[in-house]
Amino acid sequence: MQDIEAIGAVIGKHPGGPAQTVLITTHQNPDADAMGSSLGLAGYLRKKGHRVTVVTPTDYGQNLHWMPGNEGVIAFDEKQRVAVSQLFDEADLIFCLDFSALDRIRELGPLVRQSRARKVMIDHHLEPESFADLTLWDPTAAATAELVYRLIVELGDRDLLDVPIAECLYSGLMTDTGSFRHSNTTGNVHRMAANLLDLNIDVSSIHRRIFDNVSLDKFRMLGYVLNEKLKVLPQYRFAYITLTDAELKRYRSKTGDTEGMVNYALAVEGVVMACILIDRVDEIRLSFRSVGDFSVRELASTHFNGGGHRNAAGGRSKSSLAETEQKLLSILPDYQQKLAETV
Ligand code: 5GP
Ligand code: MN
Repeated sequence: MQDIEAIGAVIGKHPGGPAQTVLITTHQNPDADAMGSSLGLAGYLRKKGHRVTVVTPTDYGQNLHWMPGNEGVIAFDEKQRVAVSQLFDEADLIFCLDFSALDRIRELGPLVRQSRARKVMIDHHLEPESFADLTLWDPTAAATAELVYRLIVELGDRDLLDVPIAECLYSGLMTDTGSFRHSNTTGNVHRMAANLLDLNIDVSSIHRRIFDNVSLDKFRMLGYVLNEKLKVLPQYRFAYITLTDAELKRYRSKTGDTEGMVNYALAVEGVVMACILIDRVDEIRLSFRSVGDFSVRELASTHFNGGGHRNAAGGRSKSSLAETEQKLLSILPDYQQKLAETV
């Protein structure tokens, strides 16, 4: 579903048309694609003359705070409930980026559902809910940033792209493709990257700001996890990590500090599926990765109330960490055959 023309009609053709009050929101614990696509779209819509606010359901990693427009982002917490509710009441237009199920935006879900504003969903996750009036949804897109770029270009606004917008969109594209190495890296991905590069963005610096910006606490925790917490089950070609709340506190873990940890489990030789189970106090979060045809989205949605993509998915559980671990181990035999055949 690609309502690009209809979205264009809502946004308006030129600056100088009626300004609209626009809210942009994205999923909890936003990653670089969530923030990059949101801030890139915000920059574009501001150039079209609109009043734009980005609201996130939770805070996010310090390594994303350099992004142009970050200073105006409102990260929801309970203290701002009244102010945020008012923003939702006043909005003419709400853009929902990089998610397509309202249970992924925590307390913002009911606010989006109840709002009278026109809702536009832009996303690349499988099995979207239909809560939006207009959608730009393409599960073959590598990143939501790719879809925002497509929207801008197809609406004939390529000339509105500037360095700040390009830095945001490039960040989303780079991270969701694993720095252009995952199987979602298409010719279109590289063509988009090339066009952004032509605007003179500093890709080396962007990569450093996002990836080489690790706190010592995070590295110490990673060392501990790799030494003591990484478990490998060769018979299932599966590796996993559990993290308790006490362990997170011991290493003063901040939002985003566990991002990417699951990839170390997946990188163990012979492993084709990996998971990290993290005790977030109100729930256990599971983050899955796989290679090839093995679908962790299916596993996460069948057993852990989640979803995502074939090779990267997430889920949650209201049981204890130990019970959730046991449940995960108990379903592995059902997948043993498929895991054995995965190349
Ligand atoms: P991560 O493990 O990095 O949190 O998420 C991996 C992928 O799965 C991301 O594309 C993310 O948006 C998606 N994902 C994570 N958790 C959930 C969930 O609970 N539901 C759905 N539908 N997708 C999820
Ligand atoms: Mn994404």
